Amino acid sequence: MNILLIGAQGSGKGTQAELLAERYKLKPLASGELLRTAIAEGTATGEQVRPYVERGDLVPDALMIELILDAMRRLQGEQGIILDGFPRTIPQAQALDARLNELGQPLNAVIYLDVPRDLLLDRLAGRYICRAHGHVWNIKTRPPKTQGVCDYDGSELYQRSDDQPEKIAHRLDIFFSETIRLLDYYERQGKLARVNGVSGIEQVNQAITQAIEKLAA
Ligand SMILES: [Zn+2]
Repeated sequence: MNILLIGAQGSGKGTQAELLAERYKLKPLASGELLRTAIAEGTATGEQVRPYVERGDLVPDALMIELILDAMRRLQGEQGIILDGFPRTIPQAQALDARLNELGQPLNAVIYLDVPRDLLLDRLAGRYICRAHGHVWNIKTRPPKTQGVCDYDGSELYQRSDDQPEKIAHRLDIFFSETIRLLDYYERQGKLARVNGVSGIEQVNQAITQAIEKLAA
């Protein structure tokens, strides 16, 4: 079984990917991690993507797809993959579909974790990190006992420049104008389920597994 999770930053996608990986024995393939691993392991494709990553350039779609296929060929007992972070555009999705179909390993289910933009902005803009160890706090969802101070080590909390509201708003704009078009693409294939991502982790997980079982049946 091969699954794609689509969700904006702050939608809880990473947590849900871990839970699904465990439940269905799937290999999670988040795009950033996929790049880092291939480079660290020095695979042939890893060597090809290295210069792009080192320059901070976008990795060409064909190479991203090659990394995914490499990982699929090297599954060790897992029953499939969970993609997260790629594809983001329709051309990427089409190219990936073509290669997966050649392998006879198409995507079975595409899950959109639906969280309204305002709520995402709220969640993300509340993130603060401690200077000593990088512990993550959130003034909205997980506040420290004393404002501005880490509960664990008493060090000062600060906001990463990436987590400042204007930068978050920009990233969300890109998601809601571009990535969201994938939903129509996969809906036409009858593979899409939209899951409300606002409730608690357990409830969201239950809704996702129900959707997957319906789509994969
Ligand atoms: Zn800390």
